[in-house]
Amino acid sequence: MLESLGKVVSKHPDYLDDALIERICEPERQIIFRVPWIDDAGQVRINRGFRVQFNSALGPYKGGLRFHPSVNVGIVKFLGFEQIFKNALSGMPIGGGKGGSDFDPKGRSDREVMRFCQSFMTELWRHIGEYTDVPAGDIGVGRREIGYMFGQFKRLTNRYEAGVLTGKGLSYGGSLARSEATGFGTVYFVQRMLETRGQTLEGKRISVSGSGNVAIYAMQKALKFGATIAACSDSDGYVTDARGIDLDLIREIKEVRRERVSEYARIKGAGSQFIPAGKGSIWNVPCDVALPCATQNELSSEDATRLVNNGLIAVAEGANMPCTPEAIRTFNDAGVLFAPGKAANAGGVATSALEMQQNASRDRWSFEKTEQRLSEIMNNIHDRCYATSEEYDEPGNYILGANVAGFVQVAEAMRALGVV
Ligand code: NDP
Repeated sequence: MLESLGKVVSKHPDYLDDALIERICEPERQIIFRVPWIDDAGQVRINRGFRVQFNSALGPYKGGLRFHPSVNVGIVKFLGFEQIFKNALSGMPIGGGKGGSDFDPKGRSDREVMRFCQSFMTELWRHIGEYTDVPAGDIGVGRREIGYMFGQFKRLTNRYEAGVLTGKGLSYGGSLARSEATGFGTVYFVQRMLETRGQTLEGKRISVSGSGNVAIYAMQKALKFGATIAACSDSDGYVTDARGIDLDLIREIKEVRRERVSEYARIKGAGSQFIPAGKGSIWNVPCDVALPCATQNELSSEDATRLVNNGLIAVAEGANMPCTPEAIRTFNDAGVLFAPGKAANAGGVATSALEMQQNASRDRWSFEKTEQRLSEIMNNIHDRCYATSEEYDEPGNYILGANVAGFVQVAEAMRALGVV
């Protein structure tokens, strides 16, 4: 980010005034709290909760909550920092924030998850609100968790403030197309990016890491655009299928049976293979387009070199910062199209803002209308990034384009608001 900003300030040194960049790097507020809860055996458990309210120049803080044992304040801060510029790029009036807990929902019963969410919200409610801070889901926080947290918020405040959380269920204020938005949006971005080189997704082989919310819908939209899926994964390993991955079966395994992707190879038999994590990386599989949609730092420079040698033409980060800086350098040196997460996966937060819009107007849009808005937003993000990269004499450098376009919008608003 600072590398990109160096190019901005050499053109516009006034952005160095009033410690603007230092102010952007410092969160407006960081909240760390104790989350006590009681497990099914009656034992008291303690986790740590976080909310980093990073920047509210453009609107209320907005960003997901992550429940995963790896969560710490450093992770929440980098995600929150990225979120500021992603939200600015989405063109919606939302600031940046992020939160979560080191709670591990894996293996916990429904009742345990409910008690944890209620305890988490018993502290968080005083810091959030439709006009203050609007959390959403992220890794480990889906519809179920958002429902429990919304229930507790409503109980504690005695207010039906639908716009306080997004990613809600459809029966109580959720938006159609929100679940699909991040994965669909990433693929819209890829399609637009390929068009700049006179290509499309038709007939392309795509590898998608993960098999969660982002990955599943990225695969669905890529198939719709005529691509085939070479491989997908979970944290246990990856699967391939010579006929192309059968997405219906992956969904059945992950969403209905709640099993592991290894099941896929067992059911499909010949032609399909499961490679356990540690025995090989999904990025060994030859593909034209790579969509890392699992987690941060999952694609290394060695992975990038192998992908490039296997003929890769484009990468889009469905996850947040899945590619290491060295991997990104390898892609750039090889002339591979590269879409950074803050641009490519902004469809999720943009649709969350559409959910807030529907809640504020007590309205409900059709799936088609919401998806139409999503595709317009993604095309706009792409075009803004591309135009900015051209303005800085590096056409097609989407990292520079995304960082600069996002920064300039936030910086302009911060300047207008004075030193606060
Ligand atoms: P989910 O929890 O639904 O899915 C995550 C998937 O990644 C799971 O299949 C998980 O497997 C897999 N995974 C996790 N760690 C690894 C690993 N080390 N190697 C391989 N696979 C792994 O999360 P989401 O799909 O919602 O989010 C994925 C990423 O996208 C995150 O970085 C998130 O911040 C980002 N993102 C999500 C948005 C959204 O709208 N959901 C919006 C913008 C960004 P397992 O089941 O084994 O854990």
